[in-house]
Amino acid sequence: METGPANVEKVVIIGSGPAGWSAAIYAARANLQPVVYEGTVKPEMIPLGQLAFTTEVENYPGFPFGNVRAFIESAVDEDRHYNLPPAPKGHVKNGAPHYAVQGVELMELMKQQALNFGTRVISDDIVDVDFSGHPFRLHTGEGGIAVAQSVIVATGARANYVGLPSEDAYKNRGVSACAVCDGALPRFRNKPLVVVGGGDSAVEEATYLTNFASKVYLVHRRDELRASKIMQKRALENPKIEMTWNTVVAECLGNEKEGLTAVRLASTVGAGERTLETAGMFAAIGHTPNTAFLHGKLATNEKGYLKLTKPFRTNTSVEGVFAAGDVADDYYRQAITSAGSGCMAALDAERWLAEHYG
Ligand SMILES: Cc1cc2nc3c(=O)[nH]c(=O)nc-3n(C[C@H](O)[C@H](O)[C@H](O)COP(=O)(O)OP(=O)(O)OC[C@H]3O[C@@H](n4cnc5c(N)ncnc54)[C@H](O)[C@@H]3O)c2cc1C
Repeated sequence: METGPANVEKVVIIGSGPAGWSAAIYAARANLQPVVYEGTVKPEMIPLGQLAFTTEVENYPGFPFGNVRAFIESAVDEDRHYNLPPAPKGHVKNGAPHYAVQGVELMELMKQQALNFGTRVISDDIVDVDFSGHPFRLHTGEGGIAVAQSVIVATGARANYVGLPSEDAYKNRGVSACAVCDGALPRFRNKPLVVVGGGDSAVEEATYLTNFASKVYLVHRRDELRASKIMQKRALENPKIEMTWNTVVAECLGNEKEGLTAVRLASTVGAGERTLETAGMFAAIGHTPNTAFLHGKLATNEKGYLKLTKPFRTNTSVEGVFAAGDVADDYYRQAITSAGSGCMAALDAERWLAEHYG
C-alpha cells in the first residue's frame, strides 16, 4: 500500500460528540496525531454533538452532583470559558454550585482532554469522501481536501421531533426525545406524561417512563401500533399506559415558569381536539443518522445507520474506515456507549495502521 505524500494524516476523525473526542484522546495518546473535523453550526447539529442541546447529564459515570463548575473552570482553557453555560439556578449546597455536569460542560471537558494530547481541531464539515483508493480523500465544506490513511466516522444521529414551533419552545423544559436520558428528572416524577409514536421505541419509551410517571399516554396517529407483537402486548397490558389512537399533537402548551404543562391533541379521523395535561412530551418517532455526506460510500443497515462488518469491532464496509457512536448504533444511543465505541475505533484504527503502514 502506498504511503502517499508527507501531509497525509494518519487518522482523521469526523464529528465532535463523545465518540469523536474519545477516539481523539486514544488516537492522540497513541501518537497518531489525529485531526478532528468538528462540524459547523446548523439548526439540527452543532459542534460538541447532541449533548450540547441539553442541560444536566445525570447518567455519565464520573460526574455525580457536586461543584463541577470549579473543576471545569480549572480544566478548560480560559479562551473557551465563554462557551460554558451558567450553572443551573437554585442548585446550591453549602453556598457553592451543586449539580450534575451540563451537556456543554461535559463536552468541553472531553474536547480539552483531546487537545491536551495534541489533537488538531478544524471547524469545518466533511461534505464528501473518496474511499476508492488509499490514502482516502475527504472534501471539506470550505473547499479543502484532507488526505488520510484511516478515517473514523463519528458524526452521530439526530432525534426526529414532531416539528411544531411550540415544541421547540419547550425543549429541555418538558419536551424530550430520550426517556432513558430524561425520564428520571424530578420534573417528570409522578406526573402524567405523553409519548408520541407507534413503533417499538415508542412502546419502550412509554414502558420505561411508567417507572416514574403517574400515567403515560401513548399518542399514535393510527388505530394500531407498528411495534412488534410482543411490544404491543407489553403496552396494551400495562395499566399505566393509555393508548390515544388516531391522534396527533397539534400544539405544546405551557408557560415560562413551569415549562410544558399540556398538549393540544387533534384527531386524524375528524373527531375534534382536546387538551391533555402533561409535564412531559417524549418524541419517539425515530432518529436520522448523519450519513448524507458519505453519499452511500459506506454500507448501511435497513434503518440507514452505518453497518459494522465485524462482531465487537468498529470496522465498516471499507477497510481502514471505522465508525463509532450513534451513527452506527440504532439501539443504545447514549453518551457513554458512544464514548466507549470511540475508544474502540481509535484502537482498531491504530492496529489497522500498524498492520498496513508499519
Ligand atoms: C436533548 C438530548 C439529551 C440527551 N441526554 C443524554 C443524557 O442525559 N445521557 C446520555 O448518555 N445521552 C444523552 N443523549 C444522547 C447522547 O447525546 C448521544 O448518544 C451522544 O451524543 C452520541 O454521541 P456521538 O459522538 O455518536 O454523536 P453526536 O453527539 O451526535 O455528535 C456528532 C457530531 O458530529 C458532527 N458532524 C455531523 N456530521 C458531520 C460532518 N459531515 N462533518 C463534520 N462533523 C459532523 C455534529 O455536528 C456533531 O457535533 C441526549 C441526546 C439529546 C438529543
